[in-house]
Amino acid sequence: MKTPHRHRNITATRLLLDAYQFVRAQACVAKRFGRQFHPSREYIEIDITYKCNLKCINCNRSCTQAPSDLEMPVADVAMFISQSVAKGIAWKRIRMLGGEPTLHSRIFDIVDLLINYRKRYNPSVNLVMGTNFFGDHVHRVLEKLPDAITLKSTLKRSRVNLFKPFNVAPVDTRFNRFSDYTCGCRIIKTCGLGLTPSGYYMCAVAGGIDRIFGYHLGRKALPDDADTLSDQMSAFCRLCGHFGFQWPTRRAKRSETWRLAYRRLKNSEPHSVKDASPPYDPF
Ligand code: SF4
Ligand code: SF4
Repeated sequence: MKTPHRHRNITATRLLLDAYQFVRAQACVAKRFGRQFHPSREYIEIDITYKCNLKCINCNRSCTQAPSDLEMPVADVAMFISQSVAKGIAWKRIRMLGGEPTLHSRIFDIVDLLINYRKRYNPSVNLVMGTNFFGDHVHRVLEKLPDAITLKSTLKRSRVNLFKPFNVAPVDTRFNRFSDYTCGCRIIKTCGLGLTPSGYYMCAVAGGIDRIFGYHLGRKALPDDADTLSDQMSAFCRLCGHFGFQWPTRRAKRSETWRLAYRRLKNSEPHSVKDASPPYDPF
Protein backbone atom coordinates (compact mmCIF):
# COMPACT_ATOMS: atom_id res chain seq x y z
CA MET A 1 0.00 0.00 0.00
CA LYS A 2 1.13 3.55 -0.68
CA THR A 3 2.55 5.42 2.30
CA PRO A 4 0.01 8.06 3.29
CA HIS A 5 0.91 11.67 3.80
CA ARG A 6 0.47 12.22 7.55
CA HIS A 7 -1.64 15.18 8.53
CA ARG A 8 -1.51 16.78 11.99
CA ASN A 9 -4.52 18.80 13.05
CA ILE A 10 -2.85 20.89 15.72
CA THR A 11 0.57 22.54 15.50
CA ALA A 12 2.07 25.62 17.14
CA THR A 13 2.02 27.43 13.79
CA ARG A 14 -1.67 26.70 13.35
CA LEU A 15 -2.47 27.99 16.83
CA LEU A 16 -0.65 31.24 16.01
CA LEU A 17 -2.58 31.54 12.74
CA ASP A 18 -5.80 30.94 14.67
CA ALA A 19 -4.95 33.75 17.07
CA TYR A 20 -4.28 36.06 14.13
CA GLN A 21 -7.53 35.10 12.39
CA PHE A 22 -9.41 35.84 15.63
CA VAL A 23 -8.03 39.37 15.62
CA ARG A 24 -8.71 39.79 11.89
CA ALA A 25 -12.32 38.66 12.37
CA GLN A 26 -13.16 41.35 14.92
CA ALA A 27 -15.83 43.53 13.36
CA CYS A 28 -13.81 46.76 13.60
CA VAL A 29 -10.69 45.16 12.07
CA ALA A 30 -12.68 43.47 9.28
CA LYS A 31 -14.38 46.76 8.53
CA ARG A 32 -11.01 48.50 8.23
CA PHE A 33 -9.09 45.83 6.27
CA GLY A 34 -11.81 43.73 4.62
CA ARG A 35 -12.36 39.99 4.93
CA GLN A 36 -9.31 37.77 5.14
CA PHE A 37 -10.75 34.79 3.25
CA HIS A 38 -12.72 34.34 0.04
CA PRO A 39 -14.26 31.23 -1.54
CA SER A 40 -11.62 29.14 -3.28
CA ARG A 41 -11.43 28.42 -7.00
CA GLU A 42 -8.33 26.26 -6.55
CA TYR A 43 -9.22 23.62 -3.98
CA ILE A 44 -12.37 21.69 -3.24
CA GLU A 45 -13.27 19.02 -0.68
CA ILE A 46 -16.06 16.56 -1.42
CA ASP A 47 -17.73 14.92 1.57
CA ILE A 48 -18.91 11.79 -0.21
CA THR A 49 -20.42 10.14 2.87
CA TYR A 50 -21.03 10.74 6.56
CA LYS A 51 -20.50 7.07 7.39
CA CYS A 52 -17.49 6.55 9.61
CA ASN A 53 -16.05 3.50 11.36
CA LEU A 54 -14.28 5.56 14.01
CA LYS A 55 -16.51 7.69 16.15
CA CYS A 56 -14.13 10.39 17.31
CA ILE A 57 -14.94 12.79 20.09
CA ASN A 58 -15.60 16.31 18.70
CA CYS A 59 -15.86 15.08 15.08
CA ASN A 60 -16.30 18.14 12.87
CA ARG A 61 -18.76 16.30 10.61
CA SER A 62 -20.92 15.15 13.57
CA CYS A 63 -20.32 11.50 12.62
CA THR A 64 -20.24 10.63 16.33
CA GLN A 65 -22.74 13.13 17.65
CA ALA A 66 -25.38 12.43 14.96
CA PRO A 67 -24.39 9.27 13.03
CA SER A 68 -25.68 8.96 9.47
CA ASP A 69 -25.37 6.54 6.54
CA LEU A 70 -25.87 9.36 4.04
CA GLU A 71 -23.93 8.96 0.78
CA MET A 72 -23.48 11.43 -2.05
CA PRO A 73 -24.98 10.05 -5.28
CA VAL A 74 -22.35 9.34 -7.92
CA ALA A 75 -24.39 11.55 -10.27
CA ASP A 76 -23.57 14.56 -8.04
CA VAL A 77 -19.86 14.00 -8.61
CA ALA A 78 -20.47 13.67 -12.37
CA MET A 79 -22.44 16.94 -12.27
CA PHE A 80 -19.62 18.67 -10.37
CA ILE A 81 -17.19 17.58 -13.07
CA SER A 82 -19.37 18.77 -15.95
CA GLN A 83 -19.99 22.14 -14.25
CA SER A 84 -16.27 22.58 -13.55
CA VAL A 85 -15.50 21.96 -17.22
CA ALA A 86 -18.32 24.23 -18.41
CA LYS A 87 -17.13 27.07 -16.13
CA GLY A 88 -13.48 26.56 -17.09
CA ILE A 89 -12.35 25.97 -13.49
CA ALA A 90 -9.02 24.12 -13.41
CA TRP A 91 -8.94 22.79 -9.84
CA LYS A 92 -5.48 22.38 -8.36
CA ARG A 93 -6.67 19.85 -5.80
CA ILE A 94 -9.82 17.77 -5.34
CA ARG A 95 -10.00 15.97 -2.04
CA MET A 96 -12.45 13.14 -1.27
CA LEU A 97 -13.47 13.17 2.37
CA GLY A 98 -16.21 12.13 4.75
CA GLY A 99 -16.89 10.62 7.22
CA GLU A 100 -14.61 7.91 5.99
CA PRO A 101 -14.70 8.06 2.16
CA THR A 102 -13.62 4.42 1.69
CA LEU A 103 -16.99 3.37 3.20
CA HIS A 104 -18.97 4.87 0.28
CA SER A 105 -20.67 1.92 -1.43
CA ARG A 106 -19.56 3.20 -4.88
CA ILE A 107 -16.18 4.61 -4.00
CA PHE A 108 -14.48 3.09 -7.07
CA ASP A 109 -17.07 4.65 -9.44
CA ILE A 110 -16.34 8.04 -7.90
CA VAL A 111 -12.59 7.50 -8.16
CA ASP A 112 -12.95 6.46 -11.82
CA LEU A 113 -14.94 9.60 -12.62
CA LEU A 114 -12.29 11.84 -11.08
CA ILE A 115 -9.42 10.04 -12.80
CA ASN A 116 -11.20 10.37 -16.16
CA TYR A 117 -11.69 14.08 -15.45
CA ARG A 118 -7.98 14.43 -14.82
CA LYS A 119 -7.06 12.56 -18.02
CA ARG A 120 -9.45 14.48 -20.28
CA TYR A 121 -9.58 17.99 -18.84
CA ASN A 122 -7.14 18.75 -16.05
CA PRO A 123 -3.90 16.70 -16.05
CA SER A 124 -2.29 18.73 -13.27
CA VAL A 125 -5.07 18.33 -10.69
CA ASN A 126 -4.01 16.58 -7.49
CA LEU A 127 -6.58 13.93 -6.54
CA VAL A 128 -6.44 13.23 -2.82
CA MET A 129 -8.33 10.95 -0.47
CA GLY A 130 -8.42 11.85 3.22
CA THR A 131 -8.75 8.69 5.29
CA ASN A 132 -8.55 7.71 8.94
CA PHE A 133 -6.50 4.66 7.87
CA PHE A 134 -8.32 2.65 10.53
CA GLY A 135 -9.51 -0.95 10.32
CA ASP A 136 -9.31 -3.87 7.89
CA HIS A 137 -12.08 -2.74 5.54
CA VAL A 138 -10.52 0.69 5.06
CA HIS A 139 -7.12 -0.90 4.39
CA ARG A 140 -8.60 -3.31 1.83
CA VAL A 141 -10.16 -0.42 -0.12
CA LEU A 142 -6.99 1.68 0.09
CA GLU A 143 -4.91 -1.22 -1.27
CA LYS A 144 -7.09 -1.31 -4.40
CA LEU A 145 -6.95 2.42 -5.11
CA PRO A 146 -5.09 3.43 -8.28
CA ASP A 147 -1.74 5.21 -7.91
CA ALA A 148 -3.36 8.34 -9.31
CA ILE A 149 -4.92 8.94 -5.88
CA THR A 150 -2.75 10.50 -3.18
CA LEU A 151 -3.58 9.43 0.35
CA LYS A 152 -3.76 11.89 3.19
CA SER A 153 -4.19 10.28 6.56
CA THR A 154 -4.58 11.35 10.15
CA LEU A 155 -3.66 7.76 11.09
CA LYS A 156 -6.17 7.68 13.91
CA ARG A 157 -5.94 4.79 16.34
CA SER A 158 -8.55 5.87 18.81
CA ARG A 159 -11.70 7.97 19.26
CA VAL A 160 -9.77 10.39 21.40
CA ASN A 161 -7.74 12.96 19.44
CA LEU A 162 -6.52 16.48 20.00
CA PHE A 163 -9.12 18.52 18.07
CA LYS A 164 -10.52 22.01 18.09
CA PRO A 165 -13.75 21.97 20.16
CA PHE A 166 -15.99 21.87 17.09
CA ASN A 167 -19.21 21.89 19.12
CA VAL A 168 -18.42 25.03 21.08
CA ALA A 169 -20.36 27.62 19.09
CA PRO A 170 -18.56 30.99 19.04
CA VAL A 171 -21.95 32.64 19.41
CA ASP A 172 -22.23 30.97 22.82
CA THR A 173 -18.95 32.53 24.00
CA ARG A 174 -18.44 36.02 25.37
CA PHE A 175 -15.05 36.57 23.75
CA ASN A 176 -16.63 36.41 20.29
CA ARG A 177 -19.22 39.06 20.97
CA PHE A 178 -17.48 41.51 18.60
CA SER A 179 -16.68 38.95 15.89
CA ASP A 180 -17.85 39.30 12.31
CA TYR A 181 -18.84 35.77 11.32
CA THR A 182 -18.85 36.58 7.62
CA CYS A 183 -15.03 36.56 7.88
CA GLY A 184 -14.95 32.73 7.96
CA CYS A 185 -11.66 31.02 8.81
CA ARG A 186 -8.53 29.84 7.03
CA ILE A 187 -10.13 26.47 6.19
CA ILE A 188 -11.82 28.39 3.36
CA LYS A 189 -8.37 29.05 1.92
CA THR A 190 -6.38 25.94 2.83
CA CYS A 191 -9.07 23.29 2.28
CA GLY A 192 -11.19 25.13 -0.28
CA LEU A 193 -14.78 25.00 -1.35
CA GLY A 194 -17.00 22.20 -0.01
CA LEU A 195 -19.33 19.92 -1.93
CA THR A 196 -21.55 17.84 0.35
CA PRO A 197 -24.76 15.80 -0.07
CA SER A 198 -26.67 19.04 0.60
CA GLY A 199 -24.83 21.22 -1.93
CA TYR A 200 -21.90 23.60 -2.25
CA TYR A 201 -20.58 25.64 0.68
CA MET A 202 -17.59 27.91 1.34
CA CYS A 203 -16.13 24.89 3.18
CA ALA A 204 -17.18 21.26 3.60
CA VAL A 205 -17.47 21.73 7.38
CA ALA A 206 -20.40 24.10 6.78
CA GLY A 207 -22.28 21.40 4.85
CA GLY A 208 -21.88 19.12 7.87
CA ILE A 209 -23.29 21.84 10.13
CA ASP A 210 -26.23 22.34 7.76
CA ARG A 211 -27.00 18.61 8.03
CA ILE A 212 -27.62 19.16 11.74
CA PHE A 213 -29.32 22.58 11.68
CA GLY A 214 -31.25 22.15 8.42
CA TYR A 215 -30.98 25.71 7.15
CA HIS A 216 -30.69 24.40 3.56
CA LEU A 217 -28.26 27.11 2.46
CA GLY A 218 -26.19 24.83 0.19
CA ARG A 219 -25.93 25.96 -3.43
CA LYS A 220 -27.34 23.41 -5.84
CA ALA A 221 -24.81 24.28 -8.55
CA LEU A 222 -21.15 25.31 -8.50
CA PRO A 223 -21.24 28.93 -7.25
CA ASP A 224 -20.28 31.74 -9.61
CA ASP A 225 -17.28 33.98 -8.88
CA ALA A 226 -19.65 36.76 -7.87
CA ASP A 227 -21.22 34.63 -5.12
CA THR A 228 -19.37 35.55 -1.91
CA LEU A 229 -21.26 32.88 0.10
CA SER A 230 -21.35 35.37 2.95
CA ASP A 231 -24.89 34.24 3.89
CA GLN A 232 -23.41 30.80 4.60
CA MET A 233 -20.53 32.25 6.63
CA SER A 234 -22.94 34.35 8.65
CA ALA A 235 -25.07 31.30 9.41
CA PHE A 236 -22.45 28.58 9.98
CA CYS A 237 -19.26 30.22 11.28
CA ARG A 238 -21.14 31.46 14.34
CA LEU A 239 -21.74 27.79 15.17
CA CYS A 240 -18.35 26.35 14.29
CA GLY A 241 -15.50 25.68 16.72
CA HIS A 242 -12.97 26.33 13.94
CA PHE A 243 -13.86 30.01 13.92
CA GLY A 244 -11.35 32.39 15.46
CA PHE A 245 -9.33 30.90 18.29
CA GLN A 246 -10.22 28.07 20.65
CA TRP A 247 -7.88 25.81 22.62
CA PRO A 248 -7.72 22.25 21.27
CA THR A 249 -9.05 19.55 23.55
CA ARG A 250 -9.41 15.80 23.90
CA ARG A 251 -12.58 16.11 25.98
CA ALA A 252 -16.09 16.14 24.50
CA LYS A 253 -17.35 19.71 24.66
CA ARG A 254 -20.75 21.06 23.59
CA SER A 255 -22.14 24.52 24.08
CA GLU A 256 -25.85 25.17 24.52
CA THR A 257 -26.67 25.83 20.85
CA TRP A 258 -25.20 22.49 19.80
CA ARG A 259 -26.83 20.56 22.65
CA LEU A 260 -30.19 21.92 21.52
CA ALA A 261 -29.48 21.18 17.85
CA TYR A 262 -28.56 17.52 18.42
CA ARG A 263 -31.56 17.06 20.69
CA ARG A 264 -33.87 18.53 18.04
CA LEU A 265 -32.39 16.34 15.34
CA LYS A 266 -32.79 13.26 17.51
CA ASN A 267 -36.41 14.16 18.18
CA SER A 268 -36.90 15.14 14.50
CA GLU A 269 -37.98 18.64 15.42
CA PRO A 270 -37.62 21.15 12.56
CA HIS A 271 -35.00 23.91 12.79
CA SER A 272 -35.44 27.38 11.49
CA VAL A 273 -32.95 30.14 10.86
CA LYS A 274 -35.27 32.18 13.06
CA ASP A 275 -34.31 29.91 15.96
CA ALA A 276 -30.83 31.35 15.92
CA SER A 277 -30.32 34.08 18.44
CA PRO A 278 -29.26 37.60 17.40
CA PRO A 279 -27.15 38.93 15.73
CA TYR A 280 -27.69 36.15 13.17
CA ASP A 281 -29.18 37.50 9.98
CA PRO A 282 -28.45 35.26 6.99
CA PHE A 283 -29.73 37.71 4.44
S1 SF4 B 1 -12.31 9.63 11.58
FE1 SF4 B 1 -12.79 11.72 10.97
S2 SF4 B 1 -14.88 11.64 10.14
FE2 SF4 B 1 -14.54 9.75 11.34
S3 SF4 B 1 -15.36 10.24 13.38
FE3 SF4 B 1 -13.13 10.66 13.38
S4 SF4 B 1 -13.00 12.86 12.89
FE4 SF4 B 1 -15.05 12.18 12.29
S1 SF4 C 1 -17.91 26.95 9.01
FE1 SF4 C 1 -16.17 26.61 10.36
S2 SF4 C 1 -14.58 25.71 9.06
FE2 SF4 C 1 -16.08 26.69 7.71
S3 SF4 C 1 -15.32 28.76 7.37
FE3 SF4 C 1 -16.73 28.85 9.08
S4 SF4 C 1 -15.44 28.69 10.88
FE4 SF4 C 1 -14.25 27.94 9.13
